[in-house]
Amino acid sequence: MTPDDFVSRLTGVKPKGRDKWMACCPAHDDRDPSLSVAVAPNGNILLRCWAGCSAHDVVSSLGLSLGDLFAHPLDSSPPMAFARQERLQRAAEESSVDHERMIIALAHSDRISGKKQSAEDKARELLAVRRLIAAGVEWDADIVHLGVSKIGK
Ligand SMILES: [Zn+2]
Repeated sequence: MTPDDFVSRLTGVKPKGRDKWMACCPAHDDRDPSLSVAVAPNGNILLRCWAGCSAHDVVSSLGLSLGDLFAHPLDSSPPMAFARQERLQRAAEESSVDHERMIIALAHSDRISGKKQSAEDKARELLAVRRLIAAGVEWDADIVHLGVSKIGK
């Protein structure tokens, strides 16, 4: 939740400078605003009731939880973990593309050297071609042409 959104739920709000407010504490009978609201450098909302209510008391009174004070909800926050996962995913895709390319290149060199391809090899090469097409990979057109035209004959 944003600090503005949070503050809009309070009463008796008085701005106290940049990213700071005083407001009536919803957790006790507060007539003279005693709840201090501030924003931490990381965007989290900091609460302090000068009458002694805990941050938990305050957010509960508003029907919120402590998690609402975080700029980034804990369960969806790990941007590091997400970036890492993306990197691993890309690396896996690249290595499998290399692998498929290798299969096509080997089949191609077998043909050039006059080796007979087994039905299994042909099927595997066709699979490699299909995978590269599906992956939208650019490649040597001659290899593709030979690979596709010779497979299945
Ligand atoms: Zn209070």
